[in-house]
Amino acid sequence: MTALPATLRALVGDDGVLDQAGDLAGYRGDFALHTDGPLIAVVRPRTTAEVAALVRACMDAGVALTPRGGGTGLAGGAAPAADRPAVVISFERMRAIRTLDTTGDIMVVEAGCTLHEAREAAVSAGRLLGLDHGGLSSQIGGNLATNAGGNNVLRYGMAREQVLGLEVVLANGDVLSQLSPLRKNNAGYDLRQIFLGSEGTLGLITAAALKLRPAPAVRATACLGLQTLDAVLDLFVRARTALGEAISAFEVLPRAGLDLHFGHVGRAREPFPTITPWAVLLEADSASPYFDLPRAVEELFTSAIEDGVVIDGTVAASEAQRQALWTLREGIAHAMIETPGSLKSDSAVPVSAIGAFVTAAMQAVEAVVPGCRPVPFGHVGDGNIHFNVLPPVDMAGEAFKARWGEVTEAIEAVALDLGGTVSAEHGIGAIKRTALRRMRSASEIDAMQRLKDAFDPQGLLNPGKIL
Ligand SMILES: Cc1cc2nc3c(=O)[nH]c(=O)nc-3n(C[C@H](O)[C@H](O)[C@H](O)COP(=O)(O)OP(=O)(O)OC[C@H]3O[C@@H](n4cnc5c(N)ncnc54)[C@H](O)[C@@H]3O)c2cc1C
Repeated sequence: MTALPATLRALVGDDGVLDQAGDLAGYRGDFALHTDGPLIAVVRPRTTAEVAALVRACMDAGVALTPRGGGTGLAGGAAPAADRPAVVISFERMRAIRTLDTTGDIMVVEAGCTLHEAREAAVSAGRLLGLDHGGLSSQIGGNLATNAGGNNVLRYGMAREQVLGLEVVLANGDVLSQLSPLRKNNAGYDLRQIFLGSEGTLGLITAAALKLRPAPAVRATACLGLQTLDAVLDLFVRARTALGEAISAFEVLPRAGLDLHFGHVGRAREPFPTITPWAVLLEADSASPYFDLPRAVEELFTSAIEDGVVIDGTVAASEAQRQALWTLREGIAHAMIETPGSLKSDSAVPVSAIGAFVTAAMQAVEAVVPGCRPVPFGHVGDGNIHFNVLPPVDMAGEAFKARWGEVTEAIEAVALDLGGTVSAEHGIGAIKRTALRRMRSASEIDAMQRLKDAFDPQGLLNPGKIL
């Protein structure tokens, strides 16, 4: 094993291997978890052939291999094993857009291409990538490995629904290259589905063929203030009726989250004069210029005000105003990350149960840590509410962290009781393995373990994650 760094250098060159303590520090985890295990090196391949050679070298040496994308994950998936020697494989130097075809509407990108870069490339070609969320420095490989969700799932589905093909390096170093642009292909098992959402435990994604969509020609964005979650759901039903499949986002923002954000950026950014307990950020778009979406959204807004469902609100009149409204949504996510001790969760319940979930979860966490401050926000259209919790004002972040387990269990119990999940879009990673066993039957876990054993018989691909 002591010879491994030299072997790795021979495969990817001196500048492709980092093994000094100072250099390794930035590769020990993600937004949820850092580990301080015996990390041998970080390798940074430039090609799929190099990835395959690195995998073989690590397997031969019996060393664990943890793939790393942008390190923005929220489940500890990119944290190297704490209990055994490991190598981190970072895709930061594999970020090319290999092809972009606007006739077939398909783009082949390497795993290390960031979500931001992939979206910009699509925009430059007059197209849209149907995957969008606040972690823009995340990589396509990481997004596919976690089957990421985000703001547009309502319209375009999760990450797996953007994928036409994958290139994957298996644990034995074989390369599965399935980057065919075919939209129809029923030739045997659909292997790509096995790797999507597998969090680096079954194979390493090196490239993907992604679907593109026509770029929106018209768009309307509104931020509307409401008194109750019942009103939020009422508005959701009205929006679906008025806008149909044109709705691309329907996000709920709680007052507590907006206050947190304005605490960082100042109250001048309030979107409308009335302070309401809830706000909804709603967006609709269409590739056809013939749909008058701005008018449809204005009429939805007016009728919802007249019926007392909406209290106040604003419709963006320019792209700058639209961006400012989206900053509210992403500002809450960033403010949560920056607040010491803030607990993140990733629940989803049936859409009609969102009100019951939030009410019961608020009571449940209050019973565990009186005075803690829930900030439930997120993707109403998918039933995916991030029931995040801040420490009580007079409790230090570290003290609240010590109670995270109890608070998380209280939220989980409520979500599971309502037929929900506690891993809607961030994956299981290292931190939700116990919860996985509450969400899946023994037969399902057994089938997952058999899949893992078949694809990774030595158990060296991202050990300690999912199972
Ligand atoms: C502000 C903010 C907002 C966010 N909003 C959302 C949101 O709305 N929806 C959402 O789903 N997520 C969201 N996230 C979480 C995060 O961005 C996603 O989970 C993202 O998919 C992780 O990508 P990454 O490249 O950072 O992966 P990493 O965190 O580096 O890794 C994630 C997992 O993927 C594995 N992996 C990485 N690359 C590969 C590869 N090439 N092959 C195989 N396995 C690999 C890792 O081992 C790990 O298990 C947000 C994060 C932040 C910071």
